[in-house]
Amino acid sequence: MLNWLRRPKYGSIERRDTPAGLWTKCPKCGALITTKELERNLKVCPKCGFHHRLTAEERLAVTLDENSFEETDAHLISGDPLRFEGYPEKLAEAHEKSGNPDAAIVGFGTIEGYRTAIGALDFPFMGGSMGSVVGEKITRIAERAVEAHLPLVVFSASGGARMQEGALSLMQLAKTSAAIARLHDARLPYLSVMCDPTTGGVTASFAFLGDVILAEPGALIGFAGRRVIEQTIRRKLPDNFQAAEFCLEHGLIDMVVPRPELRATLARLLRFFGAPRVAATPPIATAGPAEATSTAVTATAGSEDV
Ligand SMILES: [Zn+2]
Repeated sequence: MLNWLRRPKYGSIERRDTPAGLWTKCPKCGALITTKELERNLKVCPKCGFHHRLTAEERLAVTLDENSFEETDAHLISGDPLRFEGYPEKLAEAHEKSGNPDAAIVGFGTIEGYRTAIGALDFPFMGGSMGSVVGEKITRIAERAVEAHLPLVVFSASGGARMQEGALSLMQLAKTSAAIARLHDARLPYLSVMCDPTTGGVTASFAFLGDVILAEPGALIGFAGRRVIEQTIRRKLPDNFQAAEFCLEHGLIDMVVPRPELRATLARLLRFFGAPRVAATPPIATAGPAEATSTAVTATAGSEDV
């Protein structure tokens, strides 16, 4: 009798015959959405509009024209210059989990036929933190954009500088900023897109240097964290402080663009700034995992320490 009373209750979702990973729970509204539907919707919750985070590969897949991406500098991997305890293991683990050698993917591609240099930070790789490799990749793609006389689009998603690389990580702020300045000197447009979250050293360098600064709805944008600021100024901050919408209202950024409109908006900006158009508009890649991996080129053999 007692056993019968203790029999576990199975909800419709928790039935044992439902394969794991089929449903995703929206962290904002709690709705259960099939992972397939969520991916079809570019990982935006169809109920409340919450923008789930994308990996760098997914970001490139939903932004670029199909098969247009040519990756550059894929071979760069981090050294351990400070012999920081546990750093090599952390790097290996992040590489294993994300499939990427570091937290940025850069290269060239087309958006609705407009050719551009492009970069995306990978938040799942150690919080998209900027160490020497991320700084070097952003710098090199900016320099390659100048050489090729093309615009640059960068998607940021980062917790800031990578503490395991100490001062070397901080130097990336100056290095990337100088590279963006060369792009500016060459009168080439740089479009910066801030995704959730864009914080610390990345906001303090290339993310805020865009000629046009865009952000996704609800993205956290800021330098220091809320608690640190509240303790310093001894004041309570508004609830939406550091949200993309708050930044727009206060003139820090230029546009907040929902993900389904982002690709067309970037194409429009590229056209406005005179980016070369190389092809008719091919169809947008879907955000499904199979398509995502086919767009990103995996790291090639042979590596180079920076
Ligand atoms: Zn939702």
